[in-house]
Amino acid sequence: MRHHSGFVSIIGRPNVGKSTLVNRMVGQKISIVTSKPNTTRHAILGVLTKENYQVIFIDTPGLINQRRRLMDKVMHRAASGSLEGASLVLLVIEANKWLSKDSNALEIIKHANVPCILVVNKVDKIKPKSKLLVFLESVAKKHNYLEILPISALKNENLDRLENEIVKNLPEEIPLFPSEMLTDKGIQFRIAESIREKLMQNLHQELPYGVGVEIDHIEDLDERLNVSAIIWVERESHKGIVIGSGGQSIKDIGQKSRFDMQDILNRKVHLVTRVKVKRNWTGNSQWIDQFGYGVSE
Ligand code: GDP
Ligand code: MG
Repeated sequence: MRHHSGFVSIIGRPNVGKSTLVNRMVGQKISIVTSKPNTTRHAILGVLTKENYQVIFIDTPGLINQRRRLMDKVMHRAASGSLEGASLVLLVIEANKWLSKDSNALEIIKHANVPCILVVNKVDKIKPKSKLLVFLESVAKKHNYLEILPISALKNENLDRLENEIVKNLPEEIPLFPSEMLTDKGIQFRIAESIREKLMQNLHQELPYGVGVEIDHIEDLDERLNVSAIIWVERESHKGIVIGSGGQSIKDIGQKSRFDMQDILNRKVHLVTRVKVKRNWTGNSQWIDQFGYGVSE
């Protein structure tokens, strides 16, 4: 039987639903999903393995234009770098909403010269569906796409067709990863992402810029996993926000993260979180490396 496999890069401005899409297609929560833009800092690999194909998704951070801060530069590079070696790129956009950042993403794709499927997400929001047609016609003129597919990642609409289109365009190749592998990121990374997700969900707009999560200790006991995490913030005042009055916020975040981890790892987890201040860590490349955000200057 013929086997197809290859890397598929996912590009799109923040908040269009890239993480939701990867999670749906891979069928397990890997990349964090929140309603806040720019929550994905890593290029995360999700692997979809079926009998005669394997799709390796590279979920990219949002493409950022103003590269004022170092963290922005890192994110930008991580996003454009992921196009190297990709057989295919999915440009994800939001139905009936083409912004200048979508144009930027398209520019990068044109520049990289990788075959592209345009994925028009969130079509569930458009009613009646006829309102979509004019939009689809106008975006079709922007590039010579392999295919244009309206989908809803959230409502699971048209994802099987997308899967078919992807596989059709992958090279004939043996599986590149073991079938049981869903992601190349270790437990440590996934735990840190889970905590970061809860921070975003709990603090919303209050969440200060430059919060980082470091897992400083993991101890694997037979009956449970002991995890110790440090939440790094840039200012003393930010510490108070994360901890909350009477420690309620941090307690809540810790508890939700622990439940999430137990779900992912299918075992008992004991989690200790501490909040510490490190001034201006997002402007320090050594620190960014240490947190696994990759790419040094
Ligand atoms: P990313 O920044 O591109 O990775 O976007 P996320 O996957 O984090 O999604 C951003 C927000 O859009 C979240 O609140 C998702 O629940 C929401 N979202 C994602 N896909 C859909 C969709 O198909 N329909 C609707 N209505 N919302 C969606
Ligand atoms: Mg994301």
